[in-house]
Amino acid sequence: RRLPLDPSEEPGARAVKGACFSRVRPQPLAAPRFVAVSRDALALLGLNGEEVARDPLAPEYLSGSRIMPGSEPAAHCYCGHQFGQFAGQLGDGAACYLGEVKVPPGQDPELLRENPSGRWEMQVKGAGLTPYSRQADGRKVLRSSIREFLCSEVMHFLGVPTTRAACVVTSDTRVVRDVYYSGNPRNERCSAVVRIAPTFLRFGSFEIFKQADEHTGRQGPSYGRDEIRGQMMDYVIEMFYPDIQRDHPDRVERNVAFFREVTRRTARVVAQWQCVGFCHGVLNTDNMSILGLTLDYGPYGFMDRFDPDFICNASDNSGRYSYQAQPAICRWNLVKLAEALAPELPPDRAEAVLSEYLGLYNSFYLENMRRKLGLLKRDEPEDEMLITELLQTMHNTGADFTNTFRGLSRISCPTEGESEEEEELVRKATALLLEQCASLEELKAANKPAMDPRELAMLLSMAQSNPALFQMISDRTTISRQLEKLSKLKDLTEAGPDELKTKQAEDWSRWITRYRKRLSRELEGQSDVQAVQEERVRVMDSTNPRVVLRNYIAQNAIEAAEKGDFSEVQRVLKVLEKPFSSQPGLEFPAWVDGGAPTKQAERD
Ligand code: AMP
Ligand code: MG
Ligand code: MG
Repeated sequence: RRLPLDPSEEPGARAVKGACFSRVRPQPLAAPRFVAVSRDALALLGLNGEEVARDPLAPEYLSGSRIMPGSEPAAHCYCGHQFGQFAGQLGDGAACYLGEVKVPPGQDPELLRENPSGRWEMQVKGAGLTPYSRQADGRKVLRSSIREFLCSEVMHFLGVPTTRAACVVTSDTRVVRDVYYSGNPRNERCSAVVRIAPTFLRFGSFEIFKQADEHTGRQGPSYGRDEIRGQMMDYVIEMFYPDIQRDHPDRVERNVAFFREVTRRTARVVAQWQCVGFCHGVLNTDNMSILGLTLDYGPYGFMDRFDPDFICNASDNSGRYSYQAQPAICRWNLVKLAEALAPELPPDRAEAVLSEYLGLYNSFYLENMRRKLGLLKRDEPEDEMLITELLQTMHNTGADFTNTFRGLSRISCPTEGESEEEEELVRKATALLLEQCASLEELKAANKPAMDPRELAMLLSMAQSNPALFQMISDRTTISRQLEKLSKLKDLTEAGPDELKTKQAEDWSRWITRYRKRLSRELEGQSDVQAVQEERVRVMDSTNPRVVLRNYIAQNAIEAAEKGDFSEVQRVLKVLEKPFSSQPGLEFPAWVDGGAPTKQAERD
């Protein structure tokens, strides 16, 4: 199916026309060795993690430094819309397809439902030059590899659909990287990650057929090769959506059903990101999996203090990929996928499917949020407002996203003949949640506008007098966000620390009172109140993680690994394999004020 192959195996950057893949040869690393392996991910391939970790040849094979018998390495040609613009040919510039492994017998049947192809695609990321490397070198450094490795695995254990990572390898091969936040070029060790997924095909895989873009004039390298698009769709649907292939003898109906399922899965995965406070950071169409998996871990971030405007990618100046933008951006990406699938997917049919997206997203989000709040026995239309007000209260008080949700299961359902007064219970719950809130100084720091107030004032007056000019010179959303911060900062400056605490306590008491009213309705008509309470706590504590991959946790592990100590990477993996339970002796501080943007954002 990898048709037609590019005849040349010569590495280097160039346009590759009429191809989905080019054969490549990974460039060996000097003295490759493991930083960490994921037993759970290796088991997918039928490998034993302990044996792999001990095998002296394993790091050679699992870094692409030696080629496994039967493997035909290749780099995939894809395109993409990056930050809203069609970027033309991108492709696997640093990743390399190693081949596929048959799912070994005796695995969980649930896995076959998730991966009906019965095969796992293996990729090594950091394997050196490919025809798609453009100006870069195809290498990865320890920082970015550890971040991708840990987060892939954490997302899996959080129950979020994702590509997997089997291991991280480091080596004696070196590259120079300009670490943009320090301004100092650094000589770093090359590393590699083995990634596993049913397939790494993405929205951008289909964009190689794009006709010249009206804004950039760029064209997909396989424009006009309609027969390859048809083959690629057949391949994806037959391998990964076999039910759709079986149920739709009509080709157009099959393609519509396929697009509807991709839309559904995309809505599902982004709803899950929102519910764990995950921000992807680079939601370009080339990072959107055709299977609805979380794909490509670069400058991602889990939020500490809740902020809907949270931006984890330091080069995302306009906040295009901010936390709250993610659901709409994913829809925008689906629009681009639909365009790439035309005429196989008739545009009017695509539009009809796209009109279902928001409803799908909302229902996934609400379903998940209801579990996070322990609202299990009934759906009430007011639940949406309760959730919105929770998030608003978290934002106003600078509450920690993960810890606040985790704390909610400690707020009890009101029951008949409660020993304590309602007022006392609310006071206690408020005190509990207040522990997660920001101090005055922290809130002031969080609301410090990035722009000089006078500059802002000038831009505002320009916006009012000449909107067209304003639009041209600046980004409206950025400016209005800055202005919002400025007015918040003004309020904060007028309040003292005691006033702030009082205000925060009032905000939380008000919300908790509403929440407890809603919880009391959970018990209506229930005979076994105790059982309802227990189920609620069980569901909440298996939906709201105790620990996520906070920035400081990854950063500590990276800094130790850069000094040659890999134990912290391994410890973090171990903790995050069980994100919902406490593991004595394997704790992290609940929160460390590392709320600043992801400093070590991928620049590799
Ligand atoms: P990303 O922003 O990670 O999705 O990457 C965008 C494009 O840059 C993709 O085509 C990648 O293959 C390519 N790329 C990223 N890092 C490297 C690298 N170190 N060497 C070559 N190409 C790269
Ligand atoms: Mg990418
Ligand atoms: Mg990347």
